[in-house]
Amino acid sequence: MSGALNDEELRFRDEVRDFLARELTPELRQAGRRCSGIFTEYHDGNRWHRILARRGWSVPHWPVEHGGTGWTPVQHHIFASELAAADAPPRAPMGPGMVAPVIIAFGTPEQQQRWLPAIRNGDDYWCQGYSEPGAGSDLAALQCRAVREGDDYVINGTKIWTTHAQYADRMFCLVRTATGGKPQAGISFLCFDMDTPGITVRPIISISGDHELNQVFFDNVRVPVAGRIGEENQGWTIAKYLLQHERGGSYAPQLRARLRRQRRALAQANLRGAEAGDLALKLADLECAVDAMEAMDMAALRAQVRGEPRGIRPSMGKTLGTELRQRLDELAVEIAGQYAAVGLPLDDRLDGPLPLPEDAVYAMSAYLNDRAATIYAGTNEVQRNLIAAHLLAN
Ligand SMILES: Cc1cc2nc3c(=O)[nH]c(=O)nc-3n(C[C@H](O)[C@H](O)[C@H](O)COP(=O)(O)OP(=O)(O)OC[C@H]3O[C@@H](n4cnc5c(N)ncnc54)[C@H](O)[C@@H]3O)c2cc1C
Repeated sequence: MSGALNDEELRFRDEVRDFLARELTPELRQAGRRCSGIFTEYHDGNRWHRILARRGWSVPHWPVEHGGTGWTPVQHHIFASELAAADAPPRAPMGPGMVAPVIIAFGTPEQQQRWLPAIRNGDDYWCQGYSEPGAGSDLAALQCRAVREGDDYVINGTKIWTTHAQYADRMFCLVRTATGGKPQAGISFLCFDMDTPGITVRPIISISGDHELNQVFFDNVRVPVAGRIGEENQGWTIAKYLLQHERGGSYAPQLRARLRRQRRALAQANLRGAEAGDLALKLADLECAVDAMEAMDMAALRAQVRGEPRGIRPSMGKTLGTELRQRLDELAVEIAGQYAAVGLPLDDRLDGPLPLPEDAVYAMSAYLNDRAATIYAGTNEVQRNLIAAHLLAN
């Protein structure tokens, strides 16, 4: 992290480092390094989440009364930076970072009691049922229907691009509970178990060869009304609140960790002359951009800890953070040179020593996987629209 830390912050950083030295096993570090997606494979991610939970650090951003840490913005930043620098597996945000803030802000005490502890300790893994084949950027066009029958809703329809639905215990889902009128006015926010009869999960394999995405089908799926958060037909406000959390968060720690790896990869590539100079210059340019990103992250963290509304910050962070990520990927492929073209069988990619430099082998899968970064969580074109609308209105 740039900038000086005071004594207390240095003590905290050492405490995090000691913890990582003890608890972050070589296997988990390898899983973190070899993760080409936004977050790691389920089993490694969940194993790491449970270790953090035992230390009380699995959900540091939550309010203290629900198991958060009450850290200062700088402590949050130190924690995220130390984890990224130590190659900790990035964890999926759908439970801790997306649905949990909604449950905390809009859920009843019973719902909070039912869902939050299991997210915190890693017993429950969640997936996000927002997008549909005809409803992505125009999310309010969603058609997946839920019809009330007594104490249940009966769901029919489909969701698509559902990340890690194959592992999820529960889904938070936007459903249409009314038609006619404004499309936004007929949407409800439902949570239910993924093993409910009538739910089918079909894989979608991405260009990088990973199975992260799925299409989910609902065929007369009967779920309790008690799983609805907020009032019927009032889900749109909740949906938007969740999106702010999906797009928010810190980008700089991961970017800086990648930058550090690329610096090392460049040194190991042993290039000379103009090519080496050109790549070093690009790295320096990216470092300046990561510094600027870190300043933005810190401003957002401070505002979050003060309890201020997030405003347009998540859209700005998402746009800059994901585009920087892609620039870093492009540079990693350049540094890897011909090794970037080597495709190892999937099994070889996961474990054990590699016949080539590790960073080079992962450069291409990260590059391919991160093409999606400017699409998910709301495309960057749409974020630019939101930023422009905000600027024009103020
Ligand atoms: C890797 C990955 C993981 C995902 N995980 C999930 C998940 O777990 N759960 C979930 O619900 N969804 C998930 N999504 C879906 C994601 O939210 C949508 O892909 C995204 O919102 C875009 O919707 P779309 O794909 O339908 O594209 P479209 O909305 O059809 O957009 C197509 C193109 O048109 C542009 N465009 C559309 N509207 C405008 C506009 N108003 N102004 C300017 N340009 C516009 C877009 O920027 C884009 O380039 C995931 C997507 C990806 C790629």
